Amino acid sequence: MSGRRYLVTGGAGFIGSFLCEAILARGDRVLCVDNLFTGSRSNVAGLIGDPRFELMEHDIVSPLTAEVDAIFNLACPASPVHYQHDPVQTTKVSVLGAINMLELANRKGAPILQASTSEVYGDPLVHPQTEDYWGNVNPIGPRACYDEGKRCAETLFFDYRRQHGLQIKVARIFNTYGPRMSTDDGRVVSNFVVQALKGDPITIYGDGSQTRSFCYVEDMVTALIDLLATPPEMTGPINIGNPAEFTIRQLAEMVVEMTASASPIVHRPLPGDDPRRRKPDITLARQVLDWEPATGLPEGLSKTIAHFDRLLTEGAA
Ligand code: NAD
Ligand code: UDP
Repeated sequence: MSGRRYLVTGGAGFIGSFLCEAILARGDRVLCVDNLFTGSRSNVAGLIGDPRFELMEHDIVSPLTAEVDAIFNLACPASPVHYQHDPVQTTKVSVLGAINMLELANRKGAPILQASTSEVYGDPLVHPQTEDYWGNVNPIGPRACYDEGKRCAETLFFDYRRQHGLQIKVARIFNTYGPRMSTDDGRVVSNFVVQALKGDPITIYGDGSQTRSFCYVEDMVTALIDLLATPPEMTGPINIGNPAEFTIRQLAEMVVEMTASASPIVHRPLPGDDPRRRKPDITLARQVLDWEPATGLPEGLSKTIAHFDRLLTEGAA
């Protein structure tokens, strides 16, 4: 069979499933490894049966042997609700999972990309965030299992490069949204859209003045694929995200308007260590990848709303 074989860990998740599709669409092959904690078979249902696609149920906290040419390491719960459910497991996935995938990359001589996160900047004191900012993370707070786990994974990637000469790519992913997020994902876009469509109260945590910058999933996947294809000297870390910044209140109002919902907006307590502002500086991505997000929030939200509307109408949610 022709084409390179890509390992996508977390490939049955939200971003991972779009990435698997995009790799197959380019004529390559995919080994999707997932323990189905937050991902699901239904996310990759359209790919099962394609001889170029294989789904393996496996927890990357355990070592893996596989014949692959390149690795995208995405396995890790990404929603605060899910990564705080079993925080010790979250740190294990981030750290032991990274070691296991780096060991595999080392054995195969394969390039490996890490799905890192804007959370490495914590509650940032530099705005917008540039890659040379070292961050402001509380190491003992409720988000630390994820933030510090991802920071340690970045350390491991760079030490494997220094010690073993691995070809690494570290992508710092900013808030990404789109169809196929699960209805109980707990992140803000899916929560607001599902609440608005059901006519339930829209739950703003805190006063809604905190900001995020939302990237549509297809833009994210294009950048990840382009990043893996860059020359070996391009290691990152590199910010990937959409720099258009919105308050959470603005997002709630947009969702209410676009769904013509009668849902009231209500306020709930702000979770501990919730970052107050977040906006990527994507100068490096523009230069190195010649990449720019193509989908603005209104267009991306409208595709996301259509997806959840279909799910709710079919009674699948
Ligand atoms: P997701 O929760 O939908 O996907 C994560 C996938 O990893 C799921 O399919 C899950 O079942 C799988 N997984 C979890 N633990 C595993 C384990 N031990 N072994 C094997 N598989 C495991 O989340 P997502 O939004 O698609 O995020 C994908 C990656 O991108 C994550 O690493 C996340 O940290 C990173 N990221 C996402 C965002 C975002 O806004 N979506 C932002 C920053 C970083
Ligand atoms: N948020 C909210 N209501 C919700 C879910 C989230 O107001 O129902 C807020 C949350 O407190 C945070 C922002 O929206 O300030 C983004 O939250 P999310 O969990 O999507 O991602 P992260 O905090 O990891 O950026």
